Amino acid sequence: MDKITVLSRYLPPDAAPLIARWIDYFNCEFKVSRSRNSKYGDYRPPYQGKGHRISVNYNLNPYAFLVTTVHEFAHLHTWNEHKFKAKPHGTEWKSNFKRMMRPFFDKEIFPQDVKRAIVGYLENPAASSCTDLTLFRTLRNYDVKKTAEAAMITVEKVKANSLFKMKNGRVFRKEGLIRKRYRCVEVKTGLVYLFNPVAEVFEVE
Ligand SMILES: [Zn+2]
Repeated sequence: MDKITVLSRYLPPDAAPLIARWIDYFNCEFKVSRSRNSKYGDYRPPYQGKGHRISVNYNLNPYAFLVTTVHEFAHLHTWNEHKFKAKPHGTEWKSNFKRMMRPFFDKEIFPQDVKRAIVGYLENPAASSCTDLTLFRTLRNYDVKKTAEAAMITVEKVKANSLFKMKNGRVFRKEGLIRKRYRCVEVKTGLVYLFNPVAEVFEVE
């Protein structure tokens, strides 16, 4: 399979061709890595016969994957220009990151709030780590919500007197068992409904 197709699984598809070009141009070994809690991505400069190496965690959402990838390529580019003379997230890196981010801004690949968070990150002189919290909090909003399935629960598992929600958004309070069904009161209308114990609903905090 060609590089662009593979990259499109992880990146916004419009961003994949340019990242593929960078991998070739910089002669970089680019790896999609297993998830690491301590970091999203990693750059290693050439060492003992090995070339540039970048790895990015596989489980980032496409925008976070792209931001991390550009972040690491900015390290690579800064290494090529300055070697040990530039600090990891110093002014040289920052100006490269800014410049290398521009084509993706031009292509309008990011949603507005992500773009604002990136710009804010670039303009904040104190921002220096690989994992800026504001930026990654915004990026995290684009994680695929696994909660829809995971938070599903059967009515019998809902705690007594707790609220639950149906798929259509209607909210109920669970009360007692009446024969084989649960008596539940719709919060909005006060009307009583009987629920099958294994009906699937969503928990409400
Ligand atoms: Zn970094």
